[in-house]
Formats: sequence, C-alpha cells, structure tokens
Amino acid sequence: IPEAEASNIQPHSQRPNGEQVPAYKIAMLGGSGVGKTTLTYQFTTSDYICAYDLSLDDDYGQKTVSVLVDDIETDLEIIDHPACEMSTEAFCATYNIDLFVVVYSVVDRGTFKAAEKVLTYLKENDMLLTRGAILVANKTDLERHREVSRQVGRKLAKEIACKFIETSSGLDHNVDELLVGIVAQVKLNPQRLSL
Ligand code: GDP
Repeated sequence: IPEAEASNIQPHSQRPNGEQVPAYKIAMLGGSGVGKTTLTYQFTTSDYICAYDLSLDDDYGQKTVSVLVDDIETDLEIIDHPACEMSTEAFCATYNIDLFVVVYSVVDRGTFKAAEKVLTYLKENDMLLTRGAILVANKTDLERHREVSRQVGRKLAKEIACKFIETSSGLDHNVDELLVGIVAQVKLNPQRLSL
C-alpha cells in the first residue's frame, strides 16, 4: 500500500474471526475525585456495551469497551488519566488521543477551575483542531451542595466549542447519553479525514 494511502487507514481492532472494528482512544481528564473512574466503570454496565476487556481492568489505566450503537460496533480504549503521575501535557504526548473527556464535579469549584485549565491548554496547543472534547459536569445528584451552576459549565463549553453534559455516575443519570455522545464525537473526528 502506498504510504499516503496507508496513513488514511483508521486504527482498527481485529476480532478473532478476522472482522475489523474501528478503535478510538478516549482520555478521561480532570481533577482527582470528580468521578472519572466511576463513570468509566458505569460505561461497562451500559446496555450499549457488547463487550469489555476485563484483563485491562485496574484502578486507573486502560479499559477497552466495545460499544454497539445503531447496529455499528466501535471499540473505545478508555484511558483514565493518572493526574498525580503525569501532566496533561505528557499524557497527551504519550497517547495518540482521539477524544478528550474532561470531567469536573459540580460540588467542587476547584475541579471546575482545573477542567477549565485543561480545556484551555488543549485549545491553546491546537489539540482541539483535529480532535473532539466533551466537558462533563458530574455529581449532579448532590444538588444541595452544588458550587458550579449548569450555566457556568455551558458557558465554558461554548467558549471552547466543545460538547457539554451533566451526569451523575452515582444515580446513573446521563451516563448512557455520555457514552453515546463519545461515540458520536469520535465518528465526527476530523483527524480521521485529514491524517
Ligand atoms: P476519580 O478520582 O475522578 O476517578 O473519581 P472516582 O471515580 O474515584 O470517584 C471519587 C468519589 O466520588 C468516589 O467515592 C465515588 O463513589 C464518588 N462519586 C463519583 N461519581 C459520583 C456521583 O455522580 N455522585 C456522587 N454523589 N458521588 C460520586
């Protein structure tokens, strides 16, 4: 295959029966304790999941899930960013990420500021020209303790030009919607067309 043509081929996972399934790398970014691990775990219990790789399960790290949306199977390699061990910068340089999921907790203004910093970093470093991002406001079940309004979250997403969703991994609210949103975003990914 000529080089130019080869570089147009999307990464795929190969099934034991030889079938090729498109595969994408998803980064879970955001402060500690915002619910990244809980959200990732909840994905594996979703009705949209047809398989996930237990062998890759650990506290953080990578989890590969196979998602079936509209009869189309897609593999998502979800990488939980170990914030304490690696800067966002190093993380993005290490993994060839297709989509950034930036999570904050609505009951912790500091985590919103952290999410803002991450998104600003990604935007200023042109990481969002060819990749998507989704801003996730988690822990909406703790409404009485809310420190970050929906409007403030929306405003930031609008400024960055990324998607916004409020979730509660505690109550399993909007977690399926987030998963389906992730699949929709990676499919739109312009990187795939311009590589
Ligand atoms: P991470 O550090 O971002 O991976 O956060 P974790 O997923 O480990 O969650 C940190 C804590 O927040 C855990 O005790 C979770 O049970 C809790 N948590 C996560 N999501 C929610 C949520 O939507 N609502 C509530 N009330 N607690 C949550």
